[in-house]
Amino acid sequence: MARIIAVTNQKGGVGKTTTCVNLAASLTAMKRRVLLIDLDPQGNATTGSGLSKEELDTSVYDVLVGSHGVKDVMKKCSPGDYWVLPANGDLTGAEVALLDLPSKETRLRAGLYEVDNDFDYILLDCPPALNMLTVNALAASQGVLIPVQCEYYALEGLTALLQTIERITQALNPSLEVEGILRTMYDPRPSLTHDVSVQLHKYFGNKVYDTVIPRNIRLAESPSYGLPVLHYEKQSRGAIAYLALAGEFIRKRAA
Ligand code: ADP
Ligand code: MG
Repeated sequence: MARIIAVTNQKGGVGKTTTCVNLAASLTAMKRRVLLIDLDPQGNATTGSGLSKEELDTSVYDVLVGSHGVKDVMKKCSPGDYWVLPANGDLTGAEVALLDLPSKETRLRAGLYEVDNDFDYILLDCPPALNMLTVNALAASQGVLIPVQCEYYALEGLTALLQTIERITQALNPSLEVEGILRTMYDPRPSLTHDVSVQLHKYFGNKVYDTVIPRNIRLAESPSYGLPVLHYEKQSRGAIAYLALAGEFIRKRAA
């Protein structure tokens, strides 16, 4: 059975997509079978994995509205070598389309049954909003991975996110739990980073990953080449950090 993880934080620009693409590539390098699902109409996880948004015949939108199955739509990316359920601007219409459909919160969960035995991990790249796409992601997942940028307002949105997770747990998905808190764009120098880390540990305890993702220019450059950083510059600090995260991610589950 696949372990399904929503990578979410309603704040934009905290490293959700970067984490999805690079964790997917790193887990694949460690011989895990991975499906990455792009749930953001911006399609950054799609292009960052080397797939063209413009050339898609079908996308995750078709899975959500039920016109296609996951296996019909997913594509293997290269050289990342994991599978992607891609997205493009069509997904903007999903919110409205879902309104008229039954079980609108659990359509992704239903769609994923058919691939449950084909993958070890399914990662969901969520949009920067607590909307119906994010609700579908949380309803389908067992774990929530929350990237947090260590700056002053980092903790502000977390309360709303945790309340949403709590609501989904009660209404739709009792097995949902926080998988881990990931500190991204980490700069070890400022004292603020330290303060945020202290607070995160106080609140989330051992759910905070020991691995931190440093600010690294290679991580910012690699998406424009459609490459996970591991296949762009494998010696970079970003590549090494995401490999370390994949290791910790696997071990945490096994422990
Ligand atoms: P989100 O998906 O949460 O909106 P992204 O992963 O797209 O965030 O990251 C926002 C921007 O920051 C992107 O341009 C990305 O390339 C860049 N970025 C993300 N993580 C890092 C990092 N660790 N170091 C440098 N740049 C990063
Ligand atoms: Mg994103």
